[in-house]
Amino acid sequence: MEQITVLGATGSIGVSTLDVLARHRDRYQVYALTASSRWQLLAEQVLEHRPRYAVMSDAAAAEALRESLSTTDCTTEVLAGEQALVEVASASCVDTVMAAIVGAAGLLPSFAAVESGKKVLLANKEVLVMAGGLFMAEARRSGAEILPIDSEHNAIFQCLPLQKALAAGCELDSLGVRKILLTASGGPFRDTPLVDLAQVTPEQACAHPNWDMGQKISVDSATMMNKGLELIEACWLFNCSADDIEVLIHPQSVIHSMVEYVDGSVLAQLGNPDMRTPIAHALGWPERVASGVASLDMVAAARLDFGAPDYERFPCLQLAQQAASMGRTAPAVLNAANEVAVAAFLRGELAFTDIAEVNKRVLLAAHLTEPVDLDVVQLADTEARQHAQRLIVAGLS
Ligand code: NDP
Ligand code: MG
Repeated sequence: MEQITVLGATGSIGVSTLDVLARHRDRYQVYALTASSRWQLLAEQVLEHRPRYAVMSDAAAAEALRESLSTTDCTTEVLAGEQALVEVASASCVDTVMAAIVGAAGLLPSFAAVESGKKVLLANKEVLVMAGGLFMAEARRSGAEILPIDSEHNAIFQCLPLQKALAAGCELDSLGVRKILLTASGGPFRDTPLVDLAQVTPEQACAHPNWDMGQKISVDSATMMNKGLELIEACWLFNCSADDIEVLIHPQSVIHSMVEYVDGSVLAQLGNPDMRTPIAHALGWPERVASGVASLDMVAAARLDFGAPDYERFPCLQLAQQAASMGRTAPAVLNAANEVAVAAFLRGELAFTDIAEVNKRVLLAAHLTEPVDLDVVQLADTEARQHAQRLIVAGLS
């Protein structure tokens, strides 16, 4: 039995992961489930999957979970705090870790999984944006296998030759790859008149036309910062530069990304927009396991449209491209500013269009350094958060 820890079990990716795992109880055993504050949902998941450990990063939530489980026959041990997240991500008996915490909060547990040589199913893209060089170097040292869960990156992984997966460090052009086509739906505001964007609400921003996701990534999809983060994520995962990647708007989200070869062949991965497909792909890899996802009905899909991204509408995408070329701690700075700006937007304290403005000002003012270790990355993250917060409090004046 493969022992698996699911970091961020109560989130959108976590719930989809447990759905796939429940279809293969003969193959996977849940070792630990983790969450931040939603202890009631975690309690339900614990009672169903009976892991050895349940971890809440929030201490009061851990106490509530412990109390609720004490009235049942469940023997799961409840732990609290970040160190416990790191422990269940790196425990020697764990084979596989699903890294599905949202944002920089996942940095240390995800890194611990890589450091201890696990098979790491990586959904938590922010940590690769912050510290991709350190993650990839550590994976090469420890022998950890990083399998992308982000649907686009999982699609690209599936379209690349097998040798690429086996030798993560090799150059794309040595495999005959000309470019990567990273697809994007364009989110809920693809056709909204530009003058109306400043007034859009968190509810509108979170109503993605194709995907049902957590709030943070939903807002990132609406600003297209998500595609910018994904561009940086792809550079690290596939050992290429931003110039090797073309972002393509594809509103239907049926093609999840493509790879073009020097002979003119373009390989695409298609499927219904359901994260259980990339999750099952990475869980089973190199075999295939069932995910519960319905067959793709090509007749119903009928047409696939494509277009170029509009940078006036989506300045965050351009900022991410800029951060990728600036290098050093620029992606970590941009990610931190964005997390603070998105949280403020969700609380109703920042206009939608000011997310990009905060991100731009913080990125351009940052003192960049070489991300030689996680401390440097975390310092850049903290300073960028403080700057973003100051700008928001001051009303961007
Ligand atoms: P959600 O917001 O739905 O879930 C986040 C999970 O992380 C929850 O379990 C949450 O716990 C936990 N969490 C939040 N803050 C902390 C913290 N400070 N410490 C520890 N745990 C924490 O996010 P998603 O599932 O949508 O996304 C997860 C990651 O996957 C993100 O990085 C996202 O970009 C990526 N991703 C998601 C996709 C999707 O379809 N949802 C697609 C591609 C990538 P609690 O519930 O208690 O708050
Ligand atoms: Mg994606």
